[in-house]
Amino acid sequence: MDSSYEQLLKRLREGLGASDVKGPVERIELPEPQIYWLGRKTIFRNFMEYPRILRRDPDKVLMYLAKELATAASLDGERAIFIGRKDKGSFSALLNRYMKERVVCPICGRPDTHTEKEKRLQFLVCEACGARSPIR
Ligand SMILES: [Zn+2]
Repeated sequence: MDSSYEQLLKRLREGLGASDVKGPVERIELPEPQIYWLGRKTIFRNFMEYPRILRRDPDKVLMYLAKELATAASLDGERAIFIGRKDKGSFSALLNRYMKERVVCPICGRPDTHTEKEKRLQFLVCEACGARSPIR
């Protein structure tokens, strides 16, 4: 097979992928949070995996968790450190909620989105179907 033919196939596949909004929805599988306690702090060992998978700013994900858990948090390399003892269940629940509210498009269910700020409102903009949904 010569390379121009392969390139043509590749272009066709990509073209189909972009317009085929009703196709199978790829789901994001969130990993299990790796949590342990150190004194009165909670160490979230694999925190950085989440912003990478969700394609969001690590600081924003961290701020969301800290706010919902009503505590202070900081980044430390791959880890995040939270003040107080927080359990693993609350992290997975919050990260799933974050994904539903701020990453997955409510119209087509795809995770290929980014957020945009307009005046004081935040919108979730879908790169697959083009929907703009306000984020509460
Ligand atoms: Zn969409």
